[in-house]
Amino acid sequence: MDFSLSDEHRMVQQMVRDYCEKEVVPIIKEADRTQTMHPSILPRLGALGILGICLPERYGGQGFDYLSLGLVCEELEACDTSLRVVMSVHMGLNSLAILQWGNEDQKQRFLTPQAKGEKYAMFGLTEPGVGSDVANMASTARRDGDDYLVNGEKMWISLATKAHHILWVARTNPERPNPHDQLSAFLIETDSPGVTRGDIHGKLGVRAGSTGWVNCADVRVPAANRLGEEGEGFKIAMSCLDNGRYTVGSGAVGLIRASLEASVRYANSRKAFGREIGKHQLVQQKIARMVRDYEMGRLLYLRAGWLKNQGKRNTKETSLCKWFATDASFEAANEAIQIHGAYGYSDEYDVERYLRNSRGAIIYEGTSEIHQLMQAGYALGYREDGDLRCELPAYDEAVWRG
Ligand SMILES: Cc1cc2nc3c(=O)[nH]c(=O)nc-3n(C[C@H](O)[C@H](O)[C@H](O)COP(=O)(O)OP(=O)(O)OC[C@H]3O[C@@H](n4cnc5c(N)ncnc54)[C@H](O)[C@@H]3O)c2cc1C
Repeated sequence: MDFSLSDEHRMVQQMVRDYCEKEVVPIIKEADRTQTMHPSILPRLGALGILGICLPERYGGQGFDYLSLGLVCEELEACDTSLRVVMSVHMGLNSLAILQWGNEDQKQRFLTPQAKGEKYAMFGLTEPGVGSDVANMASTARRDGDDYLVNGEKMWISLATKAHHILWVARTNPERPNPHDQLSAFLIETDSPGVTRGDIHGKLGVRAGSTGWVNCADVRVPAANRLGEEGEGFKIAMSCLDNGRYTVGSGAVGLIRASLEASVRYANSRKAFGREIGKHQLVQQKIARMVRDYEMGRLLYLRAGWLKNQGKRNTKETSLCKWFATDASFEAANEAIQIHGAYGYSDEYDVERYLRNSRGAIIYEGTSEIHQLMQAGYALGYREDGDLRCELPAYDEAVWRG
């Protein structure tokens, strides 16, 4: 067992850390206050190669492994959750799905420009009436010659007004007895006639990011844009979540680290009862718990990343990582505010933003309740993964750099 990071991994970490410190820290508070995604974010993530970090060079990516993606997410979210959300949807829920399920034509048309950062991608599963209960969605796609006619509404979609295409899941085969076999996945360009979209304002967190809605009204989508076979939409969506949850979990570890570092700084400088508050044992207890959760979360995402590199199924491990790290990041941010006292309650310090940002991750990409059902299901023998062809292709440096 080798827990050490390679020189390349450390280089990737440092590159993202430098970018965040120099370019994002100065603008993030204002972006959060004004609830706008700063126009530099997506182009800079693209220019730095971050949007294609773990994709093969022949598709415009950087050729790094899947562990690098986790490291990037940790660094991005240590700065602001809205940055990591970009990686969750553009890479975790979309690009990796095209790598896994797309044919060569789709990889050329969609994956390559988004790996280069020329185009941005999003993921549309949630609808106004359906979130966790995916198979009950209302969106439909009806075959019409060489096209499909897509109708439906997607809600709570990250990058809704920024992305150039959406991985859209809709019902194509209502006649099939198992609802899980009735769905299909499509890559829909947002400039297609009939696509409308807008932003959602007034969110609790991720205010420096973009969240919105996307609707399709009789949108004509070429059959060549269907990802996988008809009826594979549910399976594809679940495989997307395996990757998205990995980015959310590793990102949440970054948020724990940010809460820990802010708390240590403050506890070493603020005095109460004649000494630094860090000298008081109840403050130490909070810090100790953050250390524990940071290390635990990190081990969980390193294991998930390792499994991905091996091309092994990791649904269970990724779910555990996501559930643990997101719950823990909320707890860490909450305790960081406590350590900061009243100052933590204002946006003069970052910790109140950390708390607001941490809350959403307990809801998206599987609520904590859904992850508990999954973990209990595995333990009780009610759930097993079987052979669903849901794994990413194993990382092979010669192929990724070839
Ligand atoms: C900031 C943000 C960004 C998002 N980005 C995207 C995106 O890019 N793409 C996308 O498709 N979606 C996105 N979502 C939506 C997100 O994935 C859904 O909100 C999530 O899946 C939960 O669905 P829901 O909100 O409809 O809640 P519901 O599924 O209606 O659940 C409501 C409550 O009931 C509980 N519940 C449901 N079923 C069970 C059960 N069987 N047992 C116990 N409890 C249960 C849930 O845990 C929850 O507490 C985003 C959400 C947010 C907040």
